[in-house]
Amino acid sequence: MSTKDYLEKDYYKTLGVTKGASADEIKKSYRKLARKYHPDANEGDAKSEARFKEISEAYTVLSDDKRRKEYDEARSLFGGGGVRMPGSGPAGGGYGGGGFDFGDIFSNAGSAGGRLGDLLGGVFGNRPGGTTGTSQARPRRGADVETESSLSFSDAINGTTVSLRLTGEGPCKVCKGTGAKAGTVPRVCPTCEGTGQGSRNLGSFAFSEPCKTCRGRGLVVDDPCDTCAGSGRAMSTRTIQARIPAGVADGQRIKLAGKGAPGERGGPAGDLYVRVHVQPHPHGTFSRSGPNLTITVPVSFAEAALGAEIKVPSHGGLPVSLRIPAGTPNGRTFRVRGKGVRRKDGTAGDLLVTVNVQVPQALDDKARDALQAYRDATAGPALRADLLKNANG
Ligand SMILES: [Zn+2]
Ligand SMILES: [Zn+2]
Repeated sequence: MSTKDYLEKDYYKTLGVTKGASADEIKKSYRKLARKYHPDANEGDAKSEARFKEISEAYTVLSDDKRRKEYDEARSLFGGGGVRMPGSGPAGGGYGGGGFDFGDIFSNAGSAGGRLGDLLGGVFGNRPGGTTGTSQARPRRGADVETESSLSFSDAINGTTVSLRLTGEGPCKVCKGTGAKAGTVPRVCPTCEGTGQGSRNLGSFAFSEPCKTCRGRGLVVDDPCDTCAGSGRAMSTRTIQARIPAGVADGQRIKLAGKGAPGERGGPAGDLYVRVHVQPHPHGTFSRSGPNLTITVPVSFAEAALGAEIKVPSHGGLPVSLRIPAGTPNGRTFRVRGKGVRRKDGTAGDLLVTVNVQVPQALDDKARDALQAYRDATAGPALRADLLKNANG
């Protein structure tokens, strides 16, 4: 018989006795039922045989004072049979068999509980799940979860679907969160009688603090589960697909409703927050400035001085034409409307083009002659005359 058996089976009901039945009443009822369902009296009847096994199992536990006590404790702790949980609110009426989650019980019982710890792929948030601190039998909203995702420059602009591995703490699967080895159950802490609270007296004041014996859990485990070393908690991993909308910016936090930790006992799931990191453009061609894309383009001195129509790349589209007016200084920025990042509502940011006037590094004879002719033609008042004149006050 395992902890699970204890919680899923109502031995009193099986034997047709009340919870307060005396040892004698249990024995009497058992004998009566055992005679009725004994395989010898019901040859070939599988139903009777199963029933006989149930009756025997129930009697094995309830006829043994020590085991009966363990059974009663387990069921009162874990909400079986509608018995009040120690130190908590209303009866655990939500218990109906297979779907019971032991993690719930510990989640409010103290420090070891529902807190979701650090993650490998992110951090589970510690936001209150709506009903924290109240009855454990009620549905509980799952915790919010925060994780991070790195996106390419293009994916951030266009939107993408990413796989996120979320690792979080949950009830240990082996012991179902009880922390006790298979076949055993935790005991109510004798020091705090299950409340998880201890008190310390300082003069005439008494301070409440977590019970030292059970560390606030309300339970002690004599024979710890090998898998979780008695904590009742274990790490588990799940992978989800998350849609990242178009136009997200580096450092932005995206909320994905209902993609957080699953709710408990029918409660809604928490939310998932994904902090995105946007990688630079692979060739450094474009940068982001909110909804705008920025680019720096080289122009020749002649283009800047005389004016020109130049071709500028756009992100994910055909090059666009940009008219540079005559006399454009180095570093001036031009705006190409609608060629930035497309927003959710269909509008788009702009492409901001900054010109970088180039000085030729090598000149052939023809170019040198032309430049010398230009220099001679523009020889007039010296460029730096004012600067030199004003240098000393
Ligand atoms: Zn375990
Ligand atoms: Zn205690």
